[in-house]
Amino acid sequence: MRHSLAPRSDFPLLAATPGLHYLDSAATSQKPAAVLNAIRDFYETANANPHRGAYALSAKATDLYHDARATIARFVGVADSDCVVFTRGTTEAMNLVASSWGRTNVQAGDEIVVTALEHHANFVPWQQLALQTGATLRIVELTAHQSIDLDQLRDVVSTRTKLVAITHVSNAVGAITPLAEAVHIIRARSAAVIVVDGAQAVPHLPVAFDTLDIDFYAFSGHKLLGPMGIGCLVGRRAILEKMPPYQFGGDMIEWVHDFDCTWNVLPHKFEAGTPNAADAVGLAAAVRYLEALGMDQVRAHELSLLEKAEAAVRALPGLTVYGPAVAQRSGVLSFSVADVHPHDLATILDQHGVCIRAGHHCAQPLMRRLGVSATARASFYVYSDESDVEALVTALVAAQQIFA
Ligand code: PLP
Repeated sequence: MRHSLAPRSDFPLLAATPGLHYLDSAATSQKPAAVLNAIRDFYETANANPHRGAYALSAKATDLYHDARATIARFVGVADSDCVVFTRGTTEAMNLVASSWGRTNVQAGDEIVVTALEHHANFVPWQQLALQTGATLRIVELTAHQSIDLDQLRDVVSTRTKLVAITHVSNAVGAITPLAEAVHIIRARSAAVIVVDGAQAVPHLPVAFDTLDIDFYAFSGHKLLGPMGIGCLVGRRAILEKMPPYQFGGDMIEWVHDFDCTWNVLPHKFEAGTPNAADAVGLAAAVRYLEALGMDQVRAHELSLLEKAEAAVRALPGLTVYGPAVAQRSGVLSFSVADVHPHDLATILDQHGVCIRAGHHCAQPLMRRLGVSATARASFYVYSDESDVEALVTALVAAQQIFA
């Protein structure tokens, strides 16, 4: 029986293109009407600059922005919603921590630990911070099935480690990091600050920041049914309060004297300029939509589709599937087909209405370790169903016939 967890009719783009099999949700998700309407409603009924005006319309915009933060904080298990800072997404969140915390706390002789599984957004800022400060970058290698090697983590983390940047879920192969175990290893060996990339976790798994015993967590709205250009950095209050601002300008100041300033309280200290309030409201609508579906159900739905896709794809000749066993992956199927470049594959699949990602997935350190320049990646979400799996397999068989 075919069923999606969320009706396709809730998603205007999918409803308008019945033959489309959108299997690139790990890159960006489709948006339900509830999200599009929330953004439209903001501009139609509450549009004014938040925090600035002493009139009712501005107060309404401010309240909606504030409520959006509270909704998102609840969703990711943060009791103190002032510790949720709006950013443009995961990339900006990581750059915020690297610039603000990194430049004031890391120096030559320190070590920064990353893993070979990271998206460039959680790799390049730390590599560059190491180059700028003279710190040493250490890279934790992977198991044969592209999970973070916890024995390696044990070996690499030491009292010299100032910061560990680690992904919760890999975008390239879907591997879910055993985060509690990793955090335990890091805490037992160092006083390092732990930064976790949750871009592929928050959309697909229940996440409760306050229970994770980490210092920073970042995610992007557009991967969890929300709009592009909005995401969050979650941090511990004690650390955020000590950090200098990341950008300077309106809203983030308390007093501007002629020759120095004092800073606004959290979270405003890190939100310089007019905020992206409409998209924050849109992201809160996305969160409410996911809460109504239930994150346990989201996980179960994706796993069931992934199991079917994995079994069908593995039955095809000449296919290599990357990543750990299905139960340790999010809804991502990363693979290659012998003698067919992933880009050619994606082009042929597109002719069958199947959208997959082909490329290095912003994970070149991982691609080097796999010995490939690219993989093909199909990724599932709440609106995916068995017809998407069937279309994927049919299109793969057709592609193999072309290249036979
Ligand atoms: N980290 C992971 C694991 C991702 O999948 C992505 C997006 O592809 C990012 C970080 C960067 O997110 P954004 O481009 O929304 O800043």
